[in-house]
Amino acid sequence: MNRNFDAIVVGAGPAGSSAALTMARAGLKVALLERGAFPGEKNMFGGVLHRLTALEDIFPDFWNQAPLERHIVKKALTFMTGESSFNVNFDTEVSDRTPYNGYTVSRPKFDRWLADEAVKAGATLLNRSTVDNVVKEGKQVVGVTLLRDGSELRAPIVIAADGVLSFTAQKAGLRRAQFNPSHLAVGVKALIDMPKEVIDDRFGLVRDQGASNEIVGCTSGVRGGGFLYTNYDSLSVGLVLHLSSLSQGTKTPYDLLNEFMAQPQMAKLLRGGQLQEYSAHLVPEGGLEMVPQIDGDGILVAGDAAGMCIVTGLNLEGINLATQSGVIAGQTAIKAHQEGNFTRFVLRDYRKLLEKTYVIKDLRLYRRTPQMLHNDRIYRQYPEFVCGLMDEIYRIDGTPKQSMTKMLLGAARKTIGLKNLMADVYAGWRAL
Ligand SMILES: Cc1cc2nc3c(=O)[nH]c(=O)nc-3n(C[C@H](O)[C@H](O)[C@H](O)COP(=O)(O)OP(=O)(O)OC[C@H]3O[C@@H](n4cnc5c(N)ncnc54)[C@H](O)[C@@H]3O)c2cc1C
Repeated sequence: MNRNFDAIVVGAGPAGSSAALTMARAGLKVALLERGAFPGEKNMFGGVLHRLTALEDIFPDFWNQAPLERHIVKKALTFMTGESSFNVNFDTEVSDRTPYNGYTVSRPKFDRWLADEAVKAGATLLNRSTVDNVVKEGKQVVGVTLLRDGSELRAPIVIAADGVLSFTAQKAGLRRAQFNPSHLAVGVKALIDMPKEVIDDRFGLVRDQGASNEIVGCTSGVRGGGFLYTNYDSLSVGLVLHLSSLSQGTKTPYDLLNEFMAQPQMAKLLRGGQLQEYSAHLVPEGGLEMVPQIDGDGILVAGDAAGMCIVTGLNLEGINLATQSGVIAGQTAIKAHQEGNFTRFVLRDYRKLLEKTYVIKDLRLYRRTPQMLHNDRIYRQYPEFVCGLMDEIYRIDGTPKQSMTKMLLGAARKTIGLKNLMADVYAGWRAL
């Protein structure tokens, strides 16, 4: 095998394959290295692919080509306690609005498809190829070594798209070895098989319509939240849990997931489904504060490897940022080839270009959100407040009623405390 390339991409997830595809289409000789037996083999996520504006430039009708499960027409936010739940639903019935605002996908299928597109464009995909280290000449990264045999692959530019733990970025000296645990969350997910007709009836869907539900209060007080997404003939149900909060408790993520699935309202939605698999993965939740140095001599960092993920409690966005940053990293590499200069003085255009897109703009907008989400009250007291208040409002028991304002203030005083409520409203206003 020829071991010299114009560019090496580490990781065939959404960021890596988008970068490889962009460069291969421009005629560069690209190696796309993936540690799994195939792209997507080791990848999981909750399940909603938000609009991939970057890929829509490459595939103007990507929704006709990509393997998608359902498009989202219903979004719900649920406050949950051990026995009650209160939902806020947004339901939008538009018969054809392609591209839709979100689609559920299966990562093994989606990641494989995207990597195959990069291969069709001319990239060389090397599966079972775990990158162990970067090769440097002086300060300049000029290639990588493979774990299996220590062999070297060389290219004047390496794009690190190897996910949240990115050892490639770390070994290139672009990020510190130790993570701040408050920047990471662990996601656990169960995939539940269920016939399409049952899903359609249970969630009020037709054709390939889908529903997504974010849930707060389902984590036994551990900071984090739950999700439930409809795939074509399966459901994705899971939790995203802050590592620093999880480590203070005694329950494992799977204990919490099983309790969540057994909660009465959840159990009714999952009834009759067959558990197909469990999986787990880390989520970079630190926002802008955890973004490392993303350019160096001969190297760029994209996607989760660069901490580019946005978690607001209502949405978890990662794949759209990964593909956008992958495409821009690819474009920067193409420019570096045109100029014959791979130093950070040229490669820092990457950050400048990203600054102009929603990727850095949104990370900056939501820079205070990770801190706000570290408020323990959100995960126990607020769901108790909301469900308790609704229980009181709906209760008709022959005794004289109180005004709703009195009920609201009484429930807030009892569960949250009025001072805390005011402080939380202020923090929420600053963060969102
Ligand atoms: C529970 C959970 C729920 C989520 N929900 C959503 C959601 O609903 N919507 C959304 O948009 N995002 C969601 N995300 C985030 C999303 O999954 C990530 O942001 C996205 O996958 C990042 O893509 P990436 O290509 O940067 O990294 P990854 O998808 O992690 O891909 C990295 C690739 O690199 C490979 N690799 C790693 N190390 C090496 C190595 N040394 N050598 C070679 N290959 C290597 C891996 O095998 C992998 O294929 C969720 C994440 C989790 C965990």
